[in-house]
Amino acid sequence: MDLIQKTISDLKLDKKYAERLEHPERVIEFTFPLRRDDGSVIFLTGYRSQYNSALGPYKGGIRYHPGVNREEVVLLSKLMTFKNSLAGIPYGGGKGGVSFDPNKISRAEIERVSREYVRNLFQLIGPDLDIPAPDVNTDAEMMAWMVDEYNRLVSKFEFATFTGKPVEFGGLKGRDEATGRGAYFIMLRGFALHKVAKTAKVAIQGFGNVGMHLARILHENGYKVVAVSDSKGGIYNEKGLDVPKVMEIKKSGKIVQEYKDAKKISNEELIECDCDVLVPAALDNQIHKDNASKVKAKYIFEAANNPITAEADALLAKMGVEVFPDVLVNAGGVSASYLEWVQNRKGEIYDYDKVVKKLKEVMDRAFDITFAEKTKQNTYREAAYRASIKRLAAAMKYQF
Ligand code: NAD
Repeated sequence: MDLIQKTISDLKLDKKYAERLEHPERVIEFTFPLRRDDGSVIFLTGYRSQYNSALGPYKGGIRYHPGVNREEVVLLSKLMTFKNSLAGIPYGGGKGGVSFDPNKISRAEIERVSREYVRNLFQLIGPDLDIPAPDVNTDAEMMAWMVDEYNRLVSKFEFATFTGKPVEFGGLKGRDEATGRGAYFIMLRGFALHKVAKTAKVAIQGFGNVGMHLARILHENGYKVVAVSDSKGGIYNEKGLDVPKVMEIKKSGKIVQEYKDAKKISNEELIECDCDVLVPAALDNQIHKDNASKVKAKYIFEAANNPITAEADALLAKMGVEVFPDVLVNAGGVSASYLEWVQNRKGEIYDYDKVVKKLKEVMDRAFDITFAEKTKQNTYREAAYRASIKRLAAAMKYQF
């Protein structure tokens, strides 16, 4: 029995809800041509999974990565369903992506991919239907290309169709850092509850949108970030890294291992490094049955989506490692996206302080309702799914 079936059975809910939540409502797969800068043509496959709409329009990011496939997109859209429910925002779950390596093509080619993606999907997305956002290897500029393409195709200005846009193009101040800042708010609650000292050693896998902002915010608030990594490897210094310096290196287009005052480590070593708190903030399935037993951290905050396999999760629970789940920890991104959508629909412009205040309220509330379901016997993940599924089932009862 998987976690959803178990939660529905524990909550004594009708099993029709489990059946609905085990399957996506709709999955779209398409192949389109990309004209390369040299005039040649290659074909790429794109996906959008619209998993569940009980709470509102589908909502979730678009990922550009060679590992993108139908199964991954469906799984991530399923996670979004539970995350959006837990965050208390009026959205269902969605996710999309294109299978290719954006590091191997030019920026102009990426723009063509982004516009093609929208051309294939525009009749099935929109502010009241499905609202994409950035994810791995997609950024604010790509959301701008996408919303521009969408607006041309529908002959309307529907900026609320995409979130995570540049501030000057309908975006929200603070959206870029919101997933990292939201994760920080959850870490503060977890640290307070488990009496984790400010001197705790924090290791973060991934130094992209989520990992970099989280490392910066922890550093600014006096926490010690001992390790970070990108796809080319990581760095470790038990005394703590100079995070602004690492950011400077990364922003100049170099890899984190160009930072001198630290030991070079591999991404595998980062997972197993000497630290108190581990934050996976890169890709899926990074902690698995072969390395879970080597994890030294006592606390894991899943800033990435699905970074721990089910087998590893069970092993970590046996080891007494407290895992704060993705559906809670990284809900800051979609919560800020919700504010961006509201801002666009109301024709308002929110200031940064308002965004941070609202984000903290959403994250604290999500933490509280998770904690209300936590017992000595269950994990934070199980508690979060109980809270999330209660809200989903209460809405789904009107659908079937
Ligand atoms: P990103 O593309 O900005 O950054 C990803 C980072 O991971 C980069 O530093 C990259 O170098 C690194 N990386 C890639 N392959 C790696 C590997 N094999 N080992 C270690 N590091 C590797 O992506 P992001 O937006 O920061 O997303 C990271 C995770 O957070 C994903 O799981 C994503 O789904 C999740 N997430 C993102 C958001 C958001 O708002 N961007 C919101 C919620 C969840």
